Amino acid sequence: MSKIPFNQPFALGKEFDYIRQAIQNVHTCGDGSFTKKCHAFLEEILGVNKALLTTSCTHALEMAALLLDIHLGDEVIIPSFTFVSTVNAFVIHGAHPVFCDIRPDTLNLDEKKLEKLITSRTKAIVPVHYAGIGCEMDAIMDIARRYGVAVVEDNAHGLFGKYKGKYLGTFGTFATQSFHEDKNFNCGEGGALLINEPQYIERAEIIREKGTNRSRFYRGQVDKYTWVDIGSSYLPSDMLAAYLYAQLEVHEQIQTKRRQIWEYYHEHLQDWAFEHGIRFPIVPDYCEQAYHMFYLLMPSLDKRQALIAHLKAQDIVSAFHYLPLHLSEMGQKFGGKEGDCPVTEDVSDRLLRLPFYNDLTEADLARVVAAIREFS
Ligand SMILES: *Cc1c(COP(=O)(O)O)cnc(C)c1O
Repeated sequence: MSKIPFNQPFALGKEFDYIRQAIQNVHTCGDGSFTKKCHAFLEEILGVNKALLTTSCTHALEMAALLLDIHLGDEVIIPSFTFVSTVNAFVIHGAHPVFCDIRPDTLNLDEKKLEKLITSRTKAIVPVHYAGIGCEMDAIMDIARRYGVAVVEDNAHGLFGKYKGKYLGTFGTFATQSFHEDKNFNCGEGGALLINEPQYIERAEIIREKGTNRSRFYRGQVDKYTWVDIGSSYLPSDMLAAYLYAQLEVHEQIQTKRRQIWEYYHEHLQDWAFEHGIRFPIVPDYCEQAYHMFYLLMPSLDKRQALIAHLKAQDIVSAFHYLPLHLSEMGQKFGGKEGDCPVTEDVSDRLLRLPFYNDLTEADLARVVAAIREFS
């Protein structure tokens, strides 16, 4: 029997044609025709003011930190249950991370614990739409407005998910997307910065283009380009944008496939999970999820580890997820200690993610389900 990996990058077919076209266009660096197609696509579908492809979600988050003028001593509120990039992008500019616990149901930043973490130094709140299921954006945006704090949505999991009928990534001042190999849409490494407040667009273009006004130059708005601000190189090659565009074009097909995988697990494991005290992801009825992952919340760490080993023995790879950031080596340097985020600490020990990728076949799904159902 062949191995069923946890994740596997995929190509649907047009990727190669489009990469060839990008090369034939004699424009392989950033902001070529495929990059522009991706920008227009994201802006139109999501209804955001500006979308800019970046080399990664990490870099899109760093751009957000630069645009918000994050510097030494500023505080940024971040869920402890997230990827290191969510926090690093701000810490690299001197921010002090303030870790917020998550809700026990959606595993998203707990908006009820948010307000008491705000101080006069709070500059930003960075909610993460975990598993592509929307955070409580009404409450988060209300608190942010009342205190004059920016919101940056880390939407790495949530492209095309919705909260109360509105796309994730369209609430905050900024939102960031990832097109890393293990996300719903990928180009190997890639990301995007979504800008919802138009006053940031011009500076975002400058920061992304090494601190120059090259974007304005290309549009004929200035007759030469020059160094005007701080910046770095956050543009992906147009060959990567070509790869990505091939996937964005068929986003409905990809999301349908992912919905089928999610529903297969849900349907075929429901009675087993109930019997063993295992819980599934919870999707509030006002959220349309982005089908990024399917996880099981096991009754204990021991059970979780035992199920990982049981599946591994049958050549099926499952995975735990984030370790609490506040308890990491870096997190402790910022004062994190046990008990700060009890839900995060508990969930982190018990969560198990099942194989989930666009090429997963029904036969593979049946094999995963059968293997899990043998476990008690
Ligand atoms: C994957 C991921 C990132 C980082 O994405 P890159 O594109 O690899 O930089 C950031 N935040 C979350 C929540 C992620 O899952």
